[in-house]
Amino acid sequence: MDNSLLESLLKALEFSPENNELRFQIAKIYLNSFNYTEAEKHLISLLDRDNKKAYKYLLAKCYYNQEKYNLTEVILEELTENSNDIDHLELYCSALLKLENHAEALSIYQTILEIDNTYYNPDFESVFKLAVTSEVDNFIDEDALSMLKKPDVNFSDVGGMENVKEEIDLKIIKPLLHKDLYKAYGKKIGGGILLYGPPGCGKTHIARATAGEIDANFINIGINDILDMWLGNSEKNLHEIFETARANKPCVIFIDEIDALGANRNDINKTAGRTVINQFLSELDGIDSDNDGILVLGATNAPWYIDPAFRRPGRFDRIIFVAPPDDKARESIFKIQLEGKPTEDIDLKQLAKKSKEYSGADIKSSIDIAIEQKLLESFKDGIPKPLKTKDITKAFSKMKPSTKEWFSSAKNYALYSNDSGLYDDILTYLKIKK
Ligand code: ATP
Repeated sequence: MDNSLLESLLKALEFSPENNELRFQIAKIYLNSFNYTEAEKHLISLLDRDNKKAYKYLLAKCYYNQEKYNLTEVILEELTENSNDIDHLELYCSALLKLENHAEALSIYQTILEIDNTYYNPDFESVFKLAVTSEVDNFIDEDALSMLKKPDVNFSDVGGMENVKEEIDLKIIKPLLHKDLYKAYGKKIGGGILLYGPPGCGKTHIARATAGEIDANFINIGINDILDMWLGNSEKNLHEIFETARANKPCVIFIDEIDALGANRNDINKTAGRTVINQFLSELDGIDSDNDGILVLGATNAPWYIDPAFRRPGRFDRIIFVAPPDDKARESIFKIQLEGKPTEDIDLKQLAKKSKEYSGADIKSSIDIAIEQKLLESFKDGIPKPLKTKDITKAFSKMKPSTKEWFSSAKNYALYSNDSGLYDDILTYLKIKK
C-alpha cells in the first residue's frame, strides 16, 4: 500500500470526516491493498450516511474477499433487483456458486447473457455450459458448442517460457500439422503435456495461447468443478467434454487442477473417485474414439498427488516445470502487460530487476495497483496521467512474491519423494542441484 498517499488521505479525513468522496477513495485503496477490515469499516460508515449503490457494491466485494458469501449474497440480491449492471450480477453469480446455489447462479448467468451476448467469463462458462449440456441427450448442440472458444492470444502474448513453448510445439503442435510425416517415420502421435509449478506463472495462459497459435478451439475445465457439480455424474460429463472436442477439431482441452482427481479420492466415495479416474484415462487413451486433432494440456500446482497411471505413455507423458519467469521473461511480461496502456519512459530492465521471484500474475497485479494509484491522482484534475517506472516499483512494496510459499512445500517433495528425478527441475531452480 502506498502509505504516504493513504496517510495524507487519512489526515485529510480527520479534518473533514463528512467528506464521503474522500472516505470512499480511502476504502478503495484499502480494498485494493487487500485490507478488507479497514475497507469494510469505512464503507459501513459511508452507508450510515448515504445508501449509495457504489458503496454497497464495494462492501459486497469486501465480504466476498473475506469469504463472507452469505453477506455478499444479501447485498447483491438487493442491488441486482431491476438492475442491469454486469459487475453486480457477476459478483452475485460468483457468490451464489460459492454458496453452492447452482440453480440461482445459473439464472443470474443467463440474465448476464441476455444483457450482453458477447459476455465471456471462462470460470462461469465451464461450469454452466457443462451443466446445461449434461441435461440434454444430444450434447453436441448449440449449448455445448458455445463452451468452445477461439482464443485471441498466441505465443507472442506469452513472455518467456521458451522451453515450454518449444516442448508444446514439438510434442503437440508439429505432430498435428505434419501428421503424415510423423507417421512415415513411425513416430507415435498423441499424449498430453502436464504443466506444473507455482500459481500464476502462466500455465493457463500458455494453454490458451497454444490454441490461439494454431487457430484451434479451446476448452478450459477445472477438475474440481466437475467433481463438485456432478458428483456421481462426473464420468458422463468428462466424456461429453471430450466428445464435444472431438466434434470440433482441432481443439485444445486444458484441464486445470488435475491433482484434484487424486487428492479428492479419499474425500469422495472411493468407487466414484476411481471410476472418474478410469473414465478420464480412457478418454485420454482415446479408446473407441479418435483423439487425432485433440491436444490435451493439464495443469497442477501439486503434481505429487497425481496418480502415476496418468504419466504412462500416450497420456501425460511429458511433465514440464513452469518456473517463475527469469529476468528476461519478466521484462517481456511487463512489455506485454503494459501494451496499450498510457505509459511514459518505462524502464523494462529496471522493472525486471526489481521484481525477482514475481509470477506473471504478480506482475499483472503490480500494474493494476499502479493504475489504481494513477486513477486516484487523475481524479484531482480529471487529466489521465501516464504510468511511469516508479509507479510500478512503488506497487512492489505493497506485494509479496506469491511463488515463495509454493517452493517451501515443493522443495520437500523434490528432496524426499523425487521419483526417478521427476522434480529435478525444482531442485535446479532452487540451486540445490546442478
Ligand atoms: P494457477 O496455478 O493459479 O491456475 P497459472 O499458472 O495457470 O496459475 P495463469 O492463470 O496462466 O497462471 O496466469 C495468470 C495471469 O498472469 C495470466 O492471465 C496473464 O495475464 C499473466 N501471465 C502469467 N504468465 C505470463 C506470461 N508468461 N506472459 C504474459 N502474461 C502472463
